[in-house]
Amino acid sequence: MPGSTAELLVDLSALRSNYCTLCEMTGSVVGAVVKANAYGLGLEPVVKALAAEGCQTFFTAYTHEALALRALLPGAEIYVFSPQIFRDAAQLVAHELKPCLYDLPSVLHFCAAAKANGKKAQAALHVETGINRLGVSAENLDIILAHSELHHIEIDMVMSHLACADEPDHALNALQLSRFRDIVARCGNVRASLANSAGLFLGEDYHFDLVRPGIALFGHDPHYRHCQPRVQPVATLQAPLGQIKTVAAGEHIGYGATVRCDRDTTIGVILAGYADGIPRCLTEPGVRHHVGLGGAKVPLLGRASMDLITADLTGLPGDAAAVGCQVEFFGSQVAIETAAENANTIPYEILTGVGPRVKRSYLRAAQKS
Ligand SMILES: *Cc1c(COP(=O)(O)O)cnc(C)c1O
Repeated sequence: MPGSTAELLVDLSALRSNYCTLCEMTGSVVGAVVKANAYGLGLEPVVKALAAEGCQTFFTAYTHEALALRALLPGAEIYVFSPQIFRDAAQLVAHELKPCLYDLPSVLHFCAAAKANGKKAQAALHVETGINRLGVSAENLDIILAHSELHHIEIDMVMSHLACADEPDHALNALQLSRFRDIVARCGNVRASLANSAGLFLGEDYHFDLVRPGIALFGHDPHYRHCQPRVQPVATLQAPLGQIKTVAAGEHIGYGATVRCDRDTTIGVILAGYADGIPRCLTEPGVRHHVGLGGAKVPLLGRASMDLITADLTGLPGDAAAVGCQVEFFGSQVAIETAAENANTIPYEILTGVGPRVKRSYLRAAQKS
């Protein structure tokens, strides 16, 4: 059976090197956030590569993701950001997964599950400091900490989450930091965690005991507008050319006939489309996203279909492109930040949107030239 056409190439040695960079930058425990199938890159190869580099703490969003991770790494420390606690508590306890608890009912329910299991279970307390999603309000913190049922569990981490860490000058960063410091002081001797990727790049004040990077491990520095990116690209999305041909002046290209050729135009038909996670809005008139082709960059031309996208090869020397050549949508030639900007979104959505049809391939250190 032939392989799929579009391919997401994941450079596991770049991933490992990014993990080391973040460890060196912070001196804190680096807990890897691997929710959503490790941001679309594939859970198993990603967590095994991180574990091989010494990573022992992981975060998932949901319980089923944590269960999949537990099967891969029996000894790892695993936190679950957004458990459905009233449904999942018993499973969390049974598999030693640590929920990030976010209000008194969730705490009490988890205490009851731990009690029923006859063993102290561990959990984190997620405290609200300003993003206003999940989290214990600062007012309710003391009620939880003083609750008589709390002895059934061990709160081993207090955490919060930054709303504007990708904007280093945003006033909410300092406000959340100061609120978090007050909260940590009230929690006694328990480890503290505030920073995601963008937060850890805000500097030492934000590091506390443990940092929680996701996207930086996977190659995007959220502060790239302000400084040289401090992490290496990890993922490349590519697909082969299926046909090269000349379209006569006056002809149109693609659905909606959004492009009318004003001259004879050489086009390449790429074997990938929006079903592979390439945003259709990258091909709206006026966007002109450029893709990489053998070191050159060529603009997309005409609307993306579900499985096909056309590019303008007119400017290329005659032998620069051939059927079967790989075209890069993002990766080392075309920054994922550029693809995200052109699609009016962020690299997170581009990575997690890569479709299930796309084959994930893994480049390990030994294969690198
Ligand atoms: C997703 C998430 C992270 C990781 O965020 P990145 O911006 O990818 O580093 C950290 N903490 C929480 C609570 C999250 O939901």
